[in-house]
Amino acid sequence: MTNKQQILAHRPVGMPTAETWTLTETEVPELKDGEVLIENHYVSLDPAMRGWMNDARSYIPPVQIGEVMRAGTIGKVVKVNNHPKFKEGDVLTGWGGVQEYSVTDGENYYTVDTNLAPMPTYIGTLGMPGMTAYFGILEVGKIKEGDVVVVSGAAGAVGSVVGQIAKIKGCTVIGIAGGPEKCAYLTDDLGFDGAIDYKNDDVAAGLKKHCPKGMDVYFDNVGGEILDACLARLKLHARIVICGAISQYNNKENVQGPKNYLSLLVNRATMQGMVVMDYAPKYREAAMQMGMWMMEGKLKSREDIYEGIENFHETFTRLFSGEKNGKLVLKIK
Ligand code: NAP
Repeated sequence: MTNKQQILAHRPVGMPTAETWTLTETEVPELKDGEVLIENHYVSLDPAMRGWMNDARSYIPPVQIGEVMRAGTIGKVVKVNNHPKFKEGDVLTGWGGVQEYSVTDGENYYTVDTNLAPMPTYIGTLGMPGMTAYFGILEVGKIKEGDVVVVSGAAGAVGSVVGQIAKIKGCTVIGIAGGPEKCAYLTDDLGFDGAIDYKNDDVAAGLKKHCPKGMDVYFDNVGGEILDACLARLKLHARIVICGAISQYNNKENVQGPKNYLSLLVNRATMQGMVVMDYAPKYREAAMQMGMWMMEGKLKSREDIYEGIENFHETFTRLFSGEKNGKLVLKIK
C-alpha cells in the first residue's frame, strides 16, 4: 500500500509557493507492536502551519526540511498491531500530517464519535480552533455579561466561535472581517451585534461607531494595524487576548509591533498571549459544553471543504487570501 505525502522542501520567505512542498509517494511501513495505521480522511489547514515552517524558536519545534508537513487530521484506524486502546474502525483525531496514512503509537490521538458530529467538525469547532476560542475568550478574555467584545478574523474558524460564545455569555459582540458577505454572515447568521469590513471600510471609524464607549475585550487573530486601531479604543481594565497575528505571518521583514501600546498603561489594561495546547487536559470538558450548545442551536459550525492532497498548496493559500468560508479543511480520502 502506498502513501501520498506533502513534504516540506524549502523554508518559504514570505508567502509559500507551490515549490515549498513536494508531493511524494512511499510504501506504508509494517506496523510495530503497539502501533496503528490510520487512513486520514480530512486535514485541518491552519494559519499556524505557516509559523511551523520558520526555523525559529516557538512553542513547538519547526517542521524540518524533508519531513511530512505537520497538520491536524481526522481519520479511521484501518490496521492494528496489538494496541492497548485503539481498534480497527475507531475514528481518531491527532497530528497526522498532510499524508494519506499515518503510523502511530497513538500518543496525542483522541477517539471521537461521528454519530454526534461529522468528521470535519472535530477538526473545527469541536477541535483545535474551537478549543482556542473557548479557552481564549473565557479564561484569558475573562468575559462577563454586558462586556463589549471585539474579535478580528471574525468569520474564521476561531473568531466565529469566539463571537458566538461571547453572545451566549451575554456580551455585545462586534466582528471584524473581510468583505460584505462575511460581515452579513456575522450579523445575520451568527447574531453578532455589528460587523466591520476591514477590506472596504475604515476600521477606526467602524469601532467608534459600534463601540462608542470602547471595548472590554479585544480578541486578536490578526495583529498589525487592526490591533493598533483596537488599542486606541480600550475601556478601563480591558483585556486583549493575543491569539494570532495572521496579517504578519508572511512578512519578509520583522513583525509590525503595536504603536498604541501606551493605551494599556492609561487604561490599566492587559494584553496576554495564549497557546491552546496548554489547555489540553480540559479539551473534553470544553468539547462537551460546545457540543451541548450546538445541539441547542446556540453555536453554529461552518466548514469549507476542498478536495485532493495534490491541491494542498492552492487550498492553503486561501487562509491568507480569505477566499474561504469558515474552517478550512482538505478532504484527502
Ligand atoms: P481562519 O480565520 O480560518 O483563517 C484565516 C482568516 O484570517 C482568513 O479567512 C481571513 O479572513 C483572515 N485574514 C487573512 N489575512 C488577513 C489580514 N492580513 N488581515 C486581517 N485578516 C486576515 O484561521 P483560524 O484558524 O481561525 O485562526 C485565526 C488566528 O488564530 C490565526 O492568527 C491563528 O494563527 C491563530 N490561532 C492561534 C492559536 C493559539 O493557540 N494561539 C490556535 C489556533 C489559531 P478575512 O476574509 O476576514 O480576511
